[in-house]
Amino acid sequence: MTRGLAAAVRSGDRRALARAITLVESTRADHRAEARELLDELLPDSGGATRIGVSGAPGAGKSTLIEALGLLAVDEGHQVAVLAVDPSSARSGGSILGDKTRMSDLGRHPEAYIRPSPTGGTLGGVARRTREAVLLCEAAGFDLVLVETVGVGQSEVAVAELVDLFLLVASPTGGDELQGIKRGIMELADLIVVNKADGELLGAAQRARADLRNAVHLLRPKRPGWEVAVHMGSAATGDGMPELWAAIGAAHDRLRADGSLDALRAQQARAAMWSEVTDELLDRLRDHPGVRERLAELEAAVGEGALSPTAAAHDVLARFLGGD
Ligand code: GDP
Repeated sequence: MTRGLAAAVRSGDRRALARAITLVESTRADHRAEARELLDELLPDSGGATRIGVSGAPGAGKSTLIEALGLLAVDEGHQVAVLAVDPSSARSGGSILGDKTRMSDLGRHPEAYIRPSPTGGTLGGVARRTREAVLLCEAAGFDLVLVETVGVGQSEVAVAELVDLFLLVASPTGGDELQGIKRGIMELADLIVVNKADGELLGAAQRARADLRNAVHLLRPKRPGWEVAVHMGSAATGDGMPELWAAIGAAHDRLRADGSLDALRAQQARAAMWSEVTDELLDRLRDHPGVRERLAELEAAVGEGALSPTAAAHDVLARFLGGD
């Protein structure tokens, strides 16, 4: 049933790709089954892209920078897909790529595809559909996939689990020397760029770069022997963008050459399998009639201290696994 759609995705048909991504985003059980079939069919065609995560605080210039890098990449003959991860968008009322005026030049380019983030959902759900959307984009022939995420917390970890390299966009403004970048997010970064190094902000950008260089020295290296380079540039003027793009390419080549890319992707695929197992099990557990009928009571008893969490968990699992 999904064979026609798979063939259309493989041929690079954008509308088919959009339909396929909508399918993997759906939570309906019948859609999930179709999505699994589609992904099975397209898996052999996936894996061919350079997968880059792009994060940074709101306003740091991620969209502007993605557009600048994306345009450089299409000029070199690459096909560029941009995806977004934004579990907060349901709450804030707008998705990070929802604004049509953003990335307008890249969006119009025939060799680029920009997918706005779907709103809402659990972080696990968001991570899963993004991972699947990456595979679909690869099957459709995209060889550069940029995954944008807002620099506010857990979604960064989820994105780091599905990309090859993680780029952190910092901005020269914003008070304290690390512009509120959370240490946990810095630890995920493979490359950092201080954006907005232009006009009046140039001096501040230089200071921010020096601060960040000091800060990354104090971090435990993410990969053995890997030095996190702190670049500087301006997504608005284009200064430093070719150098940044070249550095991303060189870093990716290095990962590929020493076998660490294959190892990383294998490890990511295994982790994805286990998160699928966990999510699915939890969904089924919550839907189980025997569990559902007692859950509120058990939670209340645990909250009041009348029952230990261990005993309650044991009860829940016994109901679930006992099948009654
Ligand atoms: P995002 O929220 O991180 O995606 O940030 P945007 O790309 O939407 O940019 C936020 C604001 O910063 C916008 O007003 C941009 O025009 C501006 N901006 C982005 N890049 C630069 C830059 O390199 N220099 C300057 N001066 N402004 C920039």
